[in-house]
Amino acid sequence: MDWARQVLRYVVLRESPGEDVLAPLAHTLCQFNRWFQANRVCFDELSPAKTVRLEAVHKGMHDAVRAICTEMLAGQPGPRHYVELFEQSQSELIELMAQFKTLFLTNAAQYDALTGLRLRAGIETEFVQIQKICLRNNLQLYAAMIDVDHFKSINDRYGHPVGDSALRHLADTLKRIVRPNEPLIRWGGEEFLLLLQCPGHEAAASAAERIVQLVRSSPVPRQQDDPIVMTVTLGLAKVDSDESLDSAIERADRALYAGKEAGRDRYAIASD
Ligand code: GH3
Ligand code: MG
Ligand code: MG
Repeated sequence: MDWARQVLRYVVLRESPGEDVLAPLAHTLCQFNRWFQANRVCFDELSPAKTVRLEAVHKGMHDAVRAICTEMLAGQPGPRHYVELFEQSQSELIELMAQFKTLFLTNAAQYDALTGLRLRAGIETEFVQIQKICLRNNLQLYAAMIDVDHFKSINDRYGHPVGDSALRHLADTLKRIVRPNEPLIRWGGEEFLLLLQCPGHEAAASAAERIVQLVRSSPVPRQQDDPIVMTVTLGLAKVDSDESLDSAIERADRALYAGKEAGRDRYAIASD
């Protein structure tokens, strides 16, 4: 808006426009571009194609205005072609920014800002689909509820920011071993839900044991101080083919509680 006002003031009042209007690389000098480049990676994550288009349209807008201003400096009337090009580019830029805004908001509702993991939104539908896939492929679905042991004491002892980085580290550790078709969700606070597809009971139990061991052997690194050893307890429930997510979670939670009672840093399996 400021930039467009500058152009208007130039055309109407003949006030000299700034570098970001007349310079050949004007599109790299403006405030919008500085902000966009600093955040480009966020745009790219959402839509690489729209990001490239946004860049091109923004450059097109600058090019058109530079051509208009150059002609006017030379005492010529602004060429119609460039005026139309400017109007089209500006409209498309605004439209693309509106689309990105929607993408950002949708993304923010689905992903956890701290860990980058998915949140619960939409998991019920996916759960039913995974149930069907398991049935078709003769696999067994397990719900694993993973809860950090004595996490409150990590916060109390080291402070909330260290607690946050411990959660980020745990999420990164878990991401390393989950398969792409097995959703890992930040269920809430320091609890994570993993939906495992296993050939049978033994495979599920060994996956659970692997998670517990991996977390135990992946302490949270700190810059100057000793790393923090963190452990988790995991409650595992074999999901029936017609069972609801709520019911499976309730049983996984009960197993988790039993694991906590039994001494933590372990997994426990719910009775069928
Ligand atoms: P238990 O072994 O029985 O699970 O003990 P716990 O201390 O882990 O369980 P409790 O439910 O008492 O405490 C969980 C703590 O997790 C309390 C809450 O402040 C903390 N917490 C939840 N979400 C976050 C977060 O995003 N960041 C940080 N730093 N702490 C969080
Ligand atoms: Mg908890
Ligand atoms: Mg806990």
